[in-house]
Amino acid sequence: VPAPGALVARVVTDVSGVNKEFDYLVPGSLAPTVRVGAQVRVDLSGRRVGGWVTGVGVDPPAGVALRALAKVRGWGPEPELVDLASWAAWRWAGRRGAFLSTASPPKAVPSLPAPALRPPAPPATASAAAAAVASAPLDRAFVLRLPPALDTTPVIAELAQRGPLLVVVPSVERAAVLADRLGRAGGDVAVIPDDWAQARAGAGVVIGARGAAWAPCPGLAAVAVVDGHDEALGQEQAPTWHAATVAAERARRRGVPCVILTPCPTLELEASSQVWVPERAVERRGWAPLEIVDRRRQDPRLGLYSERLVALLRGEARVVCVLNRTGRARLLACAACEELARCEQCGAALAQQPAGGAPPYPLLCPRCGLFRPQVCASCGSTVLRHLRVGVSRAREELEVLSGRAVGEVTAATVDLPSASVLVGTEAVLHRAGRADAVAFLEFDQELLAPRVRAAAEALALLAAASRLVGGRRGRVLVQTRVPDHPAIQAALRADASVLNGPELQLRRSLGLPPATSVAVVSGPVAAAYVGGLAALPGGPVATLGPDGDEWLVKASDPATLADALAAVPRPAGRLRVAVDPARL
Ligand SMILES: [Zn+2]
Ligand SMILES: [Zn+2]
Repeated sequence: VPAPGALVARVVTDVSGVNKEFDYLVPGSLAPTVRVGAQVRVDLSGRRVGGWVTGVGVDPPAGVALRALAKVRGWGPEPELVDLASWAAWRWAGRRGAFLSTASPPKAVPSLPAPALRPPAPPATASAAAAAVASAPLDRAFVLRLPPALDTTPVIAELAQRGPLLVVVPSVERAAVLADRLGRAGGDVAVIPDDWAQARAGAGVVIGARGAAWAPCPGLAAVAVVDGHDEALGQEQAPTWHAATVAAERARRRGVPCVILTPCPTLELEASSQVWVPERAVERRGWAPLEIVDRRRQDPRLGLYSERLVALLRGEARVVCVLNRTGRARLLACAACEELARCEQCGAALAQQPAGGAPPYPLLCPRCGLFRPQVCASCGSTVLRHLRVGVSRAREELEVLSGRAVGEVTAATVDLPSASVLVGTEAVLHRAGRADAVAFLEFDQELLAPRVRAAAEALALLAAASRLVGGRRGRVLVQTRVPDHPAIQAALRADASVLNGPELQLRRSLGLPPATSVAVVSGPVAAAYVGGLAALPGGPVATLGPDGDEWLVKASDPATLADALAAVPRPAGRLRVAVDPARL
């Protein structure tokens, strides 16, 4: 029992599965370094474990014998991030410690350097986008729909004039490039995670990949998220938090603007933000002209290599060809008319039922579960064939067709090949650096994948291609059997709303996000947990499943879902709860 006047600190540990806080006595020697957010070591059930201080000078529960705090490791997240972690733990049904870990330095920071708060020089002329930010709402995010080839550095530099700016980008490579540009403009830039201590001390700009949404930034005056549509901003493993959502909440709590830059706002962003759209001419300049090759009208013997593609390979200096060969989608096409077999309800590619199943019809939509007879919807033929899109010989064949050396690039490629023609998975779009033309050899695999966000991801690929070729100056070729698809039409017209209009209708009719909020629940004890959710009074959530060992839990909105997930005690055992996962 603590002596009267003894200092007591409350601690949450990094032990998996333990969300509870414990109180510890603070020895006099440690008192100066014990502050909210500090990283500490404590004894818990006979083990020495790591944790964070969540309160100092608290009143411990009566009659409990307290242990002494063992050690202070050093500086940790700012107090406001300790609060934000509690919110995120509720929002994504995760552990507070998981978020505090993300918000902490990669190694202990016992002392801080001096603050370095210089902003980069502002751009010579403020852009219309930067001017629009003056009217940004402070209660939700402000989306700037800027075309893919437009350099966003001036908008970032302009925002940094307000005071310490936090910038979140999709990758560490992008963070390094932007940090370099801002640094050359005279800004004091701290890059996360390496410069965590400088960021905690104070910096003009704090910048990093997804985890930087949790980076320290004392005096935070604005938050920017670059390419807010990028899948890499959402964490795949549970808790499945999204950097744009965290950034928006962080800014809202502080009463500062959260500016999200993207050429193609997702429906999720549109639902939660105010969207600003530039003049048509600005968007048109920043998207590449799109050339569409309708593969239904081409000689099937040409396979992946249309006449237009061959002309491109022979005519342009630096060409990047994209072919996702992971085989995650196998397309069925009509042998008579080349029309693809698609779901009439949701548009995804239909798949053949595995042999041995006893379905009402042989074709199934993997996205919405609709069964179909094996008949071409266009010409009535009953002969369908699989399109073999996993072409391992693409590189050799392209070499023969172009008469030039062709290099191969995948996510695993370390050194970029020196060839002026490259072929690879979508990783090549992020690795190639620059190109005069991009060709998607088989785009339908992306467009019709049985995922909720397939069409949005396909548009994001077209945006990445537009950026690689420098917008209007370059060319993008798309080989497809679905030329009228809204994702292709959106890129063609340099207007993301061409996709988002029909896509929102579709999601509403299927009850999918953002019209609803969903969680995927799996693991050995999922059945018991889902049973508890189904039994909640008032029925705040609908439970669907199981599909294998996975259940889908649906609510009208994120808050209702989070409240329901928190209301049911978790059974002991392994349980995975993925709230609004990026891959659905
Ligand atoms: Zn369907
Ligand atoms: Zn047909």
